[in-house]
Amino acid sequence: MQTNLASFIKDTPEGQVADEILRSCVHCGFCLATCPTYQLLGDELDSPRGRIYLMKQLLEGQAVTQKTQLHLDRCLTCRACESTCPSGVRYGELVDISRGIVEKQVKRNTQSNVLRYLLRKLLPNLGKFKALLKLTQVVRPLLPKRLSKAVPPKASSTKSWPALRHKRKMLILDGCVQPVLAPNINVASARILDSLGISLIKVTKAGCCGAVSYHLNAQQEGLDYMRRNIDAWWPFIQQKEVEAIIMTASGCGVTVKEYGHLLRNDPNYAEKAASISSQVKDISEILDGEFNNLRQLLDKKPLVYNKLKLSFHSPCTLQHGQQIRGVAEKLLIAAGFDLTLVPDTHLCCGSAGTYSILQPRLSQQLLQNKLLALKSDGPDQIVTANIGCLLHLQGGTTLTVKHWIEMLEESLFSK
Ligand code: SF4
Ligand code: SF4
Repeated sequence: MQTNLASFIKDTPEGQVADEILRSCVHCGFCLATCPTYQLLGDELDSPRGRIYLMKQLLEGQAVTQKTQLHLDRCLTCRACESTCPSGVRYGELVDISRGIVEKQVKRNTQSNVLRYLLRKLLPNLGKFKALLKLTQVVRPLLPKRLSKAVPPKASSTKSWPALRHKRKMLILDGCVQPVLAPNINVASARILDSLGISLIKVTKAGCCGAVSYHLNAQQEGLDYMRRNIDAWWPFIQQKEVEAIIMTASGCGVTVKEYGHLLRNDPNYAEKAASISSQVKDISEILDGEFNNLRQLLDKKPLVYNKLKLSFHSPCTLQHGQQIRGVAEKLLIAAGFDLTLVPDTHLCCGSAGTYSILQPRLSQQLLQNKLLALKSDGPDQIVTANIGCLLHLQGGTTLTVKHWIEMLEESLFSK
């Protein structure tokens, strides 16, 4: 695609990246077939190709309107279009750059500004989020049914974190909402890795990966969260005390894997960020690397759960963002679970970070479609790999929804 970027962006690092991405799009339209918003709305401007066209216009200096903002807001940043694109267009990066520009040029109404501000201030802050959750759980019976369904129940883990007893060590990110809403996920990961001779270390100074703020167009705030995590992890990396940094939420994983790229122009953090990103692994990648040892442990266990049928929802941040497919499924099958067939696995469930709050109508439509697909082969339970998807799916079904690592742990430690 020919481009002629406007002078305000042309010679900036962002402008050069955007120009390169725009030029890589050949407008073939293959991506339309896998775009969830295009499937629902049937409007070219709600497709990747249409949005790329809008972004080209704004980057070339044409007037940015609320219409441009609306079509970019409706994008889930699911990156299904990247998986489909034969030209390797880095759509996610382009939409982040463009949204930052739109945010400066198009005013939002007060209600929208307040909501976005609250999300940025509450979700990444563990203390404030805990307090808010406690309050909503208390008043839950008084809330209208729709709101009451959205309040997650109290969660705790009855299992304890294993002692740091092994020579092999890895870091694990707790993240922002996961320790409060599903603390058992990281405990399960620590217990499995402990049985494989690896101790997991939580660094309390590390927290939100930065994605919430970054994708709400407060990009500097997001980068500050990233720098804080790098500072928390760096002593372990510098001393070569750990082999990897593990993510159990694929939404955090995709972001931390991009720290090196996102902080490449920061002279104080570029090198450290690149080093951190190179050591980040999803929990499924780590266990795949330990597969033979895991297999031996599983072989010693009676497959008590082997009658249980699980439906696996692969989060967009896992399959499109990190391009990891089939790994958690392979591990679950090795543990004796029966996995159901799920149609349209490439489609987003509608959770997409804060999308379910900011675009509730589209998000709910995607959720209903996803649940129909996940239930179509009669599962006993649903499993996934990201806390956001887990909570979103659980809000729409009476079937239990868990992180797949919890099922693997139950299988390994069953009597
Ligand atoms: S993003 Fe890729 S698939 Fe979509 S129109 Fe451009 S080149 Fe084609
Ligand atoms: S990121 Fe997802 S919703 Fe956005 S244009 Fe691509 S496929 Fe469509």
